[in-house]
Amino acid sequence: MTQAVVIGGGLAGLLAARVLARHADKVTVIEGDTYPQGPAQRKGLPQGRQNHMLMAGGAEALEQLLPGTLAQLTAAGAHTLAMGSDMLTLSSEGWFRTFDDDSYTIACSRPLIDHVVRSQVLDDPAVTVLQATRAVALRGDATAVTGVAVERADGSEAVIGADLVVDACGSRSKSPTWLAGLGLPAVAEEFVDAGLTYAGREYEAPPQAAKNFPGVLIQTVPGTGQPGKGAAFMPQEDGRWIVSLIGTQGGQPPTQDEGFTDFARDMRDPVVAELIATARPLTEVRGSRGLANRRRLWHKLPLPDGFLAIGDAVMVLSPNYATGMSMAAFGALALRTRLKTHGLEPGLARAVQNDIAAAGAGPWTMASTTDLFFPGVKTNITVRGAAMQQSIGARYARTAAANEDVLRAVYEVSTLRSPQSRMMSLPLLLSVLRGPDKPALTAQQARAQFPQIGELLAQHTRPDLHDTPR
Ligand SMILES: Cc1cc2nc3c(=O)[nH]c(=O)nc-3n(C[C@H](O)[C@H](O)[C@H](O)COP(=O)(O)OP(=O)(O)OC[C@H]3O[C@@H](n4cnc5c(N)ncnc54)[C@H](O)[C@@H]3O)c2cc1C
Repeated sequence: MTQAVVIGGGLAGLLAARVLARHADKVTVIEGDTYPQGPAQRKGLPQGRQNHMLMAGGAEALEQLLPGTLAQLTAAGAHTLAMGSDMLTLSSEGWFRTFDDDSYTIACSRPLIDHVVRSQVLDDPAVTVLQATRAVALRGDATAVTGVAVERADGSEAVIGADLVVDACGSRSKSPTWLAGLGLPAVAEEFVDAGLTYAGREYEAPPQAAKNFPGVLIQTVPGTGQPGKGAAFMPQEDGRWIVSLIGTQGGQPPTQDEGFTDFARDMRDPVVAELIATARPLTEVRGSRGLANRRRLWHKLPLPDGFLAIGDAVMVLSPNYATGMSMAAFGALALRTRLKTHGLEPGLARAVQNDIAAAGAGPWTMASTTDLFFPGVKTNITVRGAAMQQSIGARYARTAAANEDVLRAVYEVSTLRSPQSRMMSLPLLLSVLRGPDKPALTAQQARAQFPQIGELLAQHTRPDLHDTPR
C-alpha cells in the first residue's frame, strides 16, 4: 500500500492532497489547526483576515484541479472583476484607462475560497485529515524521507510512514531544521524585505454598492526615495467590502482603528477614504507585519527522495503582488503533471521541486526587483541591472496608462496568465520605447469611468461612521 502524507492543510496542502489521491492508496493531511464549519476565519491562517485577490492564472489552475470551483465561488457571492473594466487603478505611473480585456481577479474573502476548496477535497474518500495534530519532525535519512513524527493536541505522539511527504506548512515551515536533523546542508534562503505592513478592515457596503461595484487599487510607487503607500479596496460576498492599507518601511499604516481613515486620505488619491466614509465598519482594523519576499532554494539541495515542499513553504512574495494562492495551485498542478509520468517513484519530488522553482522565477524577479527600490529595504541578494529594470518597469507602466496593448500585457502577466516574457515582445517594447501616446488621465477623468463611485459619494458620505466598528 502506498501512502502520501501532506503536512499542512491550507490551500497548497489540500490541493496537493487532491492530486495525490489519484496516485496513492492513502493520503493523510496533518493539520495543526481545527477547521471551522463553514467559511470562517481560523487561527492557523492569520492572513485570512486580509484582502485576498485570486488572480486569473491561479483561478484557472484551481479550476483544473477542482472543476466547478469558480462556479461555486460565484454562487456563494464572489465577484469576478475584469482588470480592464471593473477596477479603478492608480498605477505607480498614473491612472489606468478602462478597456475590454479578459484578465480578471476573483474578489471574495479568503475563508470562502478555503471553504469551497476544503469541502471538495475532504469529500474525497482517499483523503484523511488529522486535525489538531502537528508535525514535529521528519523520519528517514539524508537519502530518503520515510515518514513524519506528529504530536496530537492531547500530547500523544506517533510516527506516520510515507512514500512521499509534502511540506505545505506555509511560510513558518520547519523543514529547514527538520532536514538538517537528517543530515542535510542548510537550504539557501533569499529575502527582500521592504518592511511591508498591511492593515485590513471589513465594511458593510451601502445597499446600492453591494453589487456591480468596482475594485480600487492605489499602487505603491518604488524608486522615489519615499516609502510606498497603497490601498486595495475590493467587494466581497454578502455585500461586504474589504479594505487593505499598505505601507513600506517608514510609511506603514496604523494597525488599529485610530488613524486608519486618515492614512487612506493621505494617499496619492483619497478615493478609498471617501468610499469607506460611506460604509459601516464590521470589524476592527487588523494588521499583518513582516511581509517580506522570501524564497528557499530547495531545488538546489541534494534533497532526499520522498520529500517535496510547495506553496509558501517554498516562496512567499509580498502580498502586494497577490500571487501566493496562485503559486499554491501551480505547485499542485506541477505535482499532478509529474505524477502522471513518474507515479510515486524516486525522482518525482526532485522533478516537481524544479518545476515549482521555474514557475516561481518570474514572479520572484518582478516582486523582489521592485521592492529593492523602497527606502530601508533589507536584503541578502544583489540583482544585476536592477536600476535599469526598475526604470524600464516605470516606463512600461507609464506607457500602459495610455496604450491598451501594453496594458493588456501588464494585466496578463500580473494576473499570472502569461509569463513575464510576454512583455518582451518586439512590438510592445517599441511602444514602450515611444512612450505614452495620450495624455495622462486626471483623477477626475479616471473616476468618471466608474459612475457608480460618483453616485455613491454624492449620496452617502457619513463622516460619523469613520472608525466605529459595529
Ligand atoms: C497579508 C496577506 C495578504 C495576502 N494577499 C494575497 C492575495 O491577495 N492573493 C494571493 O494569491 N495570496 C495572498 N496572500 C498569500 C496567501 O495567503 C498564501 O500564499 C497562501 O495562504 C499560501 O498557502 P499555503 O497552503 O502554502 O500556506 P498557509 O495558507 O499558510 O497554510 C499552511 C497550513 O499549515 C498548517 N501548519 C503549519 N505548521 C504545521 C505543522 N507543523 N503541522 C501541521 N500543520 C501545520 C497551518 O495551520 C496552515 O493551515 C497574502 C498573504 C498575506 C500575509
